[in-house]
Amino acid sequence: MDTIIFEGVEHLMSRKSRKSVLVTGGAGFLGSHLCERLLNEGNEVICVDNFYTGNKENIVHLMESPYFEFIRQDICFPLYVEVDEIYNLACPASPIHYQFDPVQTTKTSVHGSINMLGLAKRLKIKILQASTSEVYGSPVVHPQTESYWGNVNPIGPRSCYDEGKRCAETLFFDYNRQHNLQIKIARIFNTYGPRMHPQDGRVVSNFIVQSLQGQDLTAYGDGAQTRSFCYVDDLIDGLVKLMNSSDDFTGPVNIGNPLEMSIVELAEKVIQMTGSKSKIIYNPLPKDDPQQRRPDISLAKEKLGWQPATDLDTGLRKTIEYFKKII
Ligand code: NAD
Ligand code: UDP
Repeated sequence: MDTIIFEGVEHLMSRKSRKSVLVTGGAGFLGSHLCERLLNEGNEVICVDNFYTGNKENIVHLMESPYFEFIRQDICFPLYVEVDEIYNLACPASPIHYQFDPVQTTKTSVHGSINMLGLAKRLKIKILQASTSEVYGSPVVHPQTESYWGNVNPIGPRSCYDEGKRCAETLFFDYNRQHNLQIKIARIFNTYGPRMHPQDGRVVSNFIVQSLQGQDLTAYGDGAQTRSFCYVDDLIDGLVKLMNSSDDFTGPVNIGNPLEMSIVELAEKVIQMTGSKSKIIYNPLPKDDPQQRRPDISLAKEKLGWQPATDLDTGLRKTIEYFKKII
């Protein structure tokens, strides 16, 4: 069409080509990066968050965009919006945050997922769940493939998170089988980067903040336990690729960086990169802390053409720069 006669028509046309995407937990660490990416790609974004662990600073720069809308709400209560896709990220993610109010953590994963699945069912739209490597618990299969059912304590201090996320996966698959809903499940492994909360107790944020403030770095246990750390931009890229993957692909699919290292190795790296004089000290290991964790990402490579692109030094450098500015 060459000429647009009515203002209203122009508005409707641009709306048609612009997808409207709901991001729950959009004011958190990962959610804020996802909102940013979706806006940059020309989508309209509705971010829902109750600021339980997220905050306004993470999204204040997005509020300038007319295509960004924020709704302050707990997803445990039903939500009525009209959108084309849902990314369900709402849930506290660090052990100290999810253990602070464990009942609310389970509610967010279970009631919250039911509400978001109900919304997706009414609108007949795709919904993606931010699941976690914690569904594998303390894994006895290494590295972890999606076919592994896990080794999870159902009654321990981590269970509110692990079992909540496992139940959410069950709900997603039952909505898929029972209601033909299009679902996508990402099993996210440890991710780091700018906008991590400085007091979330996670190992990357703790070690960087401790190094920058000249405090000792607190390795838990003997520090020989391993994790595999993925930079946030890579992770977000994996989530978007999963959402856009072929209709018949539901996952679950591991999204993480297979580069595995011990906690002591990470501490040494952070000390070296910050030029800190801090030392490593050893504190008790939290209960049920997994000994090892590394994703097998063959499925993500095959189905999504995805693999991480950021090396640890580059990712840590950007994260250190961020923490230097905010603490
Ligand atoms: P985060 O704590 O920074 O973000 C979670 C966001 O959800 C916060 O903004 C919080 O306020 C919001 N929220 C929590 N409960 C809510 C509720 N009931 N209603 C509405 N909003 C609510 O955590 P993150 O690291 O950004 O994690 C995002 C998602 O990814 C989580 O679902 C988490 O389980 C998953 N995940 C993250 C990692 C990681 O390494 N960061 C690893 C595995 C899985
Ligand atoms: N950890 C540590 N020191 C810290 C914080 C964490 O040694 O100050 C350890 C923790 O015990 C675990 C690993 O680092 O073995 C990763 O912890 P995090 O809380 O970041 O993630 P998760 O345990 O959920 O993988």
